[in-house]
Amino acid sequence: MTAVTPGLVCAHHHLYSELARGMPPPPKTPTDFQEILEQIWWRLDAALDLEMLEWSAKLGALEALEAGTTAIIDHNETPNAIEGSLSVIADACAEVGVRVVTAYGVTDRHGHEGAVRGLEENRRFLDEGGNGLVGVHASFTCTEETLEAASDLANEYDVGVHIHVAEGPGDRDAPERLAGLTNDRWLLSHCVYLPDDHGLDGTILHNPRSNLNNGVGYANPARFSNPVALGTDGIGANMIESFRLAYVMHRSVDVTIGPDIAWSWLETGLDLVPEARNDEVTWSYDPMDPWHIAFTAGVHPVKIEVEGEVVYEDGAPTRVDADEIRAKAHEQAVRLHARL
Ligand SMILES: [Zn+2]
Repeated sequence: MTAVTPGLVCAHHHLYSELARGMPPPPKTPTDFQEILEQIWWRLDAALDLEMLEWSAKLGALEALEAGTTAIIDHNETPNAIEGSLSVIADACAEVGVRVVTAYGVTDRHGHEGAVRGLEENRRFLDEGGNGLVGVHASFTCTEETLEAASDLANEYDVGVHIHVAEGPGDRDAPERLAGLTNDRWLLSHCVYLPDDHGLDGTILHNPRSNLNNGVGYANPARFSNPVALGTDGIGANMIESFRLAYVMHRSVDVTIGPDIAWSWLETGLDLVPEARNDEVTWSYDPMDPWHIAFTAGVHPVKIEVEGEVVYEDGAPTRVDADEIRAKAHEQAVRLHARL
């Protein structure tokens, strides 16, 4: 029995982080979210070059396809390989046959010049017709000037801003920092520490596995009036698994709810990347209905068409060699881990 759905959308991904798995442990065990950023992610992102990024993105795109995800909203942070990075990601995804909307996560962590270079990479990519947004790391790592410049750039190109918001307690003042800048096109990722009446516009991106992994708590996104979509925050792009986890996390705070709410969050992704509605995923299970899928493990795609082209069939991608991508990604991971 099979069922067909549109392509799934991962609404918050970091394709640069695919080579992190198996990395050496940090010199000091992080004790909170800020230290996880400092000890793990900000050491990893600084060590990446464009060749590593290329194979990290191809591995991420391949694994997305293997999970029936045909569209990724990516947020890139490669502070020592900024220029050209968004094109590397776009080309890698195109090669595999997965849609991507990418953005460079602007930050003042590396000084004003670093922020300007990030803004310019967003501008270059958008100016060349790339499918992008304007990325901002988070308000707590940006000056007022940078936040306003990112907002202005997004308005100039008529796109949204993709930003982390109140993921940890250190970003609690995000509502005040971003007041007056947001609109419906903005994508606000995490929002764990955002109050119910935050006043920000945009779609909230819920990443339940990442939030659990970082020990930051449960965002409980049903409490917001904003639309909600599901992401992974870089831990793969299996959106069926993300839906299942989002459902039980929601259930853990309200036993009266059903899986149809988390399923609607999965479907919000199609509002963010409407082209994915043109894609067809044929699944190993029928019906693809929230009350079934919430309680069925191991559901996987058997065939995927993107814009009418078969890109996945018989357990393998049609455009690329999965074994080669895994081998090359492993080579780059060894090179990356040696720098840490
Ligand atoms: Zn993120």
